[in-house]
This record gives sequence, C-alpha cells and structure tokens, in this order.
Amino acid sequence: MSSQASPVKVFIRIRPTANFAHELIECPLDQQTLKVRSRKDSNKGKRNNQLSSWVFQLNGVLDNVSQEDTYDRVARSVVLGAFAGYNGTIMCFGQTGAGKTYTMTGAAETYKHRGIIPRALQEVFQEVEHRADHTFSLHLSFLEIYNETMVDLLSSIKQGKSSNSGVLTVIEEPGGGVSVKGLSLHLVHNEEEALNLLFEGEMNRIIGEHALNKHSSRSHCIFTVHIESRSRTLSDAKYITSKLNLVDLAGSERLSKTGSEGQAQMEAMYINKSLTFLEQVILALADSRREHVPFRQSKLTHALKDSLGGNCNTVLVANIYGEAAQIEETLSTLRFATRMKCVQTKPSINEHVDPVLQVRRLEKEIQFLKEELSM
Ligand code: ADP
Ligand code: MG
Repeated sequence: MSSQASPVKVFIRIRPTANFAHELIECPLDQQTLKVRSRKDSNKGKRNNQLSSWVFQLNGVLDNVSQEDTYDRVARSVVLGAFAGYNGTIMCFGQTGAGKTYTMTGAAETYKHRGIIPRALQEVFQEVEHRADHTFSLHLSFLEIYNETMVDLLSSIKQGKSSNSGVLTVIEEPGGGVSVKGLSLHLVHNEEEALNLLFEGEMNRIIGEHALNKHSSRSHCIFTVHIESRSRTLSDAKYITSKLNLVDLAGSERLSKTGSEGQAQMEAMYINKSLTFLEQVILALADSRREHVPFRQSKLTHALKDSLGGNCNTVLVANIYGEAAQIEETLSTLRFATRMKCVQTKPSINEHVDPVLQVRRLEKEIQFLKEELSM
C-alpha cells in the first residue's frame, strides 16, 4: 500500500507556575511559536553577558491548557487513526518534574486530571461500540526500559499470552515493523479491564522505583494498545491491525556522573546514553543524505524504530518548566523538539488478508459461477 511521508508533530506543554519567567519565555498569541532568552549558550557551555534569544516554531504550544484539551489537540486524531489501521505513537519528552507523567497518565484519582492514556482507552472502547459492523480484538502490553534492560510491567498478570517467558528482545518484522518478543499481551474487553492493567503496570513501575530509592523517573515506559479489526461480513477476508504506543520517556536532564555513586552513577550513564542515542537517531532521520540510522544502538530506539522513521503517525509532547532556574534544560528540550519536527514517517494502513476466509470466499464464487454455467 502506498504511503505519504508525514512529519512528526511536535507540541510544547508548559507546566503551570506562579513564577513564570515572562522576561525569558514569550508565548505569542499564535500558540505555535516560543521565544526564549538566556544568558548562557548551553551549546557551548559558556556564559555570555548579553542575552541570546531563540525562536522555536512548533505545531502547538500548550500553555494553561486542560488535560481534556491537550488530549483533543495532541492525541485524538492519532487514536482514531489507529482504528483506520494506522500505527500511532505519542511520546512525552522533557526533564524530570516537567509534566511527562501528568500528560501521559495524569492523576488517575480525579477524572478531570486523567492524562492521555486513560482518555485514549475511553475513546478506544467508545469506537468499538460505535462500529457494530466490525469485531475487534484489543490487547495491551506495558514495557519498561531501565538501564538497557527491558522489563514487562504486566508479567505478573496470569492470563496474558506471551511468546516467550523471561528474556525480552526486540525483533524486526518483515515489512519494517518491530515487536518485542516475550512481552505479554493482555486481551481486554472493556475500559475498566484496560484501566486496571494500566494501574497494575504503574504500580509495578513505582515499586521498582522505590526499591531503588529513585527520586526521578529513570526509566522509559511504552504502553501499547494492539488493535485488530475485522468486518462482520463473512465474505470480507480482509482485516486490519494497528499499534498505539503511548510513551513516557525518562527525564532528559543530563545527570552528572560525579558526586553520585554505584546505582545512581550507573543510571546516569544509561539514561544519558539512551537519550544521546535517541538524539543521534533523530539527527540521522532528519538528514535525508544519511543512509544509516543507528536504531540498534539502544533498546529504546530499537523498540521505537517504526515509530520514529517508519509506518506510524507520531506526535511528540515536549514538557517544559516556565521558571527561570530551568531555562537551560528548557532550551535543550526545545532544541530536541525542533529537530524531531524534521523527522518524516510514512504511515500506511496495515491491511491483511485472512487466508481461510479468502478460500471460503473464492469457493463461494466458484459455486456461483458453476450454477450460472449450468443454467
Ligand atoms: P515528570 O513525569 O516529567 O517527571 P510529573 O508529570 O510527575 O513530571 O509532574 C511533576 C508534578 O507537576 C506533578 O505533581 C504533577 O501533578 C504536576 N504537573 C505537571 N504538569 C502539570 C500540569 N500541566 N498541570 C497541573 N499539574 C502539573
Ligand atoms: Mg514521570
């Protein structure tokens, strides 16, 4: 199936604050531009006496925007696209505390503060109800990547089907897709079952974080809805599949290796490395002259291979602070976000033919033709 190149959409979300640095960050009314000033050029690490300024063009700046409106602007079209057979990926990037988990998962206890994942699950099951002419099979998986090790956050749940027990590996499928061998897939029938799995996975992530005494989000998490839909017409042998990846990346701040020991030093090294590799992949993808893209350098870029350069509608939300004290990290997040805007993906419908139904359909046709001939 032919597909058209489509640029990754990039949104900036500003965490609300009473100390917004109006003198450094300006959000023009067009809601698609950010003007940022700083004394330090963090590219060179030097301090200038004069203010330097940068202008960033984005697909949208979400400043004081509710969870509901954020979902509508960022996620809805990607979620609905998954029902038409397009893979979709929405990911949150930014320094620790800037609002990635709030944007992706939200505060589950208050309905108003639910993030993109619970809202997407609600929309998914609403769509299933509306499309009575189709049957759907929906599975969930929840992957965590911590220190270059992949962890199945739903492995403790019995009824999941897993292609392997224990070790998880990224495999490349014919046609350019990727999947994680060994990751458990859980069949869900309604929103409640799906939300229970989300909370179960979140709990497993938190338990892991406390055990290691972590104060910031040190792991990448990929929550995936796997959708398969078939027409109820028996004669239709075609069916479509898609994956919706909802990704909460580890804090993007450059953690210093000095001053931390053992576990913390190791984490700093792995996070810096995997985010550096993510940047390298983005740079290679954004540069059309580069033939080799180093996806396999890290588990994160390998697992997200089709979301970054392949068959996928991809959206990045870059979360930033509005405070002056964080301006250097904010600039580095905005630089990453604008580079991501140059990446092109090629979304196309994942359509398959069920061989059994196809044979049945052809047999029917032959029967019909035979009857015509004998008339
Ligand atoms: P991160 O996942 O990037 O480390 P969090 O999502 O945990 O950051 O956000 C840090 C804190 O800020 C949380 O208490 C969260 O509820 C709050 N917060 C972040 N973004 C918003 C927002 N847009 N509106 C209200 N509270 C927010
Ligand atoms: Mg977080």
